[in-house]
Amino acid sequence: MFVKSLSLMNYRNYETLSLDSFGSVNLMIGRNAQGKTNLLEALLVLALTKSHRTSKDKELISFGKDHATVSAEIERKYGAVGLELRFSHQGKRAKLNGLEQRKLSDFVGVLNAVMFAPEDLEIVKGTPGVRRRFLDMEIGQVQPSYLFHLQQYQKVLVQRNNLLKQAWGSGSDKGTMLEVWNEQLAEHGVKIIKKRKQFIRKLQKWAQQIHEGITGGGENLKLSYLPSFGEAEEEDEAVLLEQFMIKLSQTKDQEIRRGMTLSGPHRDDLAFHINGNEAQSFGSQGQQRTTALSLKLAEIELIHEEIGEYPILLLDDVLSELDPYRQTQLIETFQSKVQTFITATGIESLNASRLQDASIFHVQEGQVRK
Ligand code: ATP
Ligand code: MG
Repeated sequence: MFVKSLSLMNYRNYETLSLDSFGSVNLMIGRNAQGKTNLLEALLVLALTKSHRTSKDKELISFGKDHATVSAEIERKYGAVGLELRFSHQGKRAKLNGLEQRKLSDFVGVLNAVMFAPEDLEIVKGTPGVRRRFLDMEIGQVQPSYLFHLQQYQKVLVQRNNLLKQAWGSGSDKGTMLEVWNEQLAEHGVKIIKKRKQFIRKLQKWAQQIHEGITGGGENLKLSYLPSFGEAEEEDEAVLLEQFMIKLSQTKDQEIRRGMTLSGPHRDDLAFHINGNEAQSFGSQGQQRTTALSLKLAEIELIHEEIGEYPILLLDDVLSELDPYRQTQLIETFQSKVQTFITATGIESLNASRLQDASIFHVQEGQVRK
């Protein structure tokens, strides 16, 4: 897919902006704090309806303004689509080709984007919560039904935790209530776990290959799901459901004591091994960075496999950290098939020979000129 134009109004430090004439490789050049990341973020927001930097949509609205809009014209295989998101202090609204969408999930996935930014190192180095967020965002982008189960799961989880927190009297109605929540928790939880395991299995195939390429064959990357119950490889829904229910009944007393749900997809994790060693604890900074990059690049292929089109690639401040050989490698791998947006503080930090044909945009104080 291809972004033909982008318009912003009252978005972060952009009052109004209208950009077109994007090429297949686009460089956004500017000093610090001028609005480069804001531009990439706006594209990602159009893909996901939310930012990678904040969960608070209000932060996207320019200081002192009451609403922001982000819109774009994109070219997909089946034709051109106009996307528009409007953020106000009351919430957000989405339009496709001018038509208001009742469900945001119908909007997500019309534009697909993969972003690689410095903070993605946290997928490897950070807490399990960061990795779950990674899984949820990426799977949700290509499978709207995943988001549905995730939302339902989270609702049930809150209710169930509330019940667990309530002083546990002798009333049997609470026991019955817990049974009801258990069933609903397991129903949605199992769908989430299954989709995550499938995603990881497919991602692994590409990530391993790409990682091997980047490291010149020296490193073998392996991804594995770390479940809070059952075997990592188990993907059969009926088996997972039974295991989840058993686990919940086994830990019932402990959960009541602690007042929270102790197993399920909200407690699961993802592990990376390089040549058999756990990357979070034993990987060097460079190995961790390469692992995160391989994951993101693998996603590009995975999305292509899933929907038959390549997503756009957003590289925020990361290309200049790679040596000229790797920059060239990266650009050449995707140049002809993936529209790419790259930010950097100066053109001199970008050495890849292929960047000579790129479209260059200069970003300064919320204004952009080509
Ligand atoms: P760097 O090279 O340091 O990464 P950048 O060009 O990527 O810089 P951005 O992250 O895009 O910079 O941010 C540019 C500016 O946007 C910052 O000065 C920030 O204060 C401003 N900004 C962020 N949110 C808002 C907002 N809601 N309203 C107005 N300005 C904002
Ligand atoms: Mg930035």
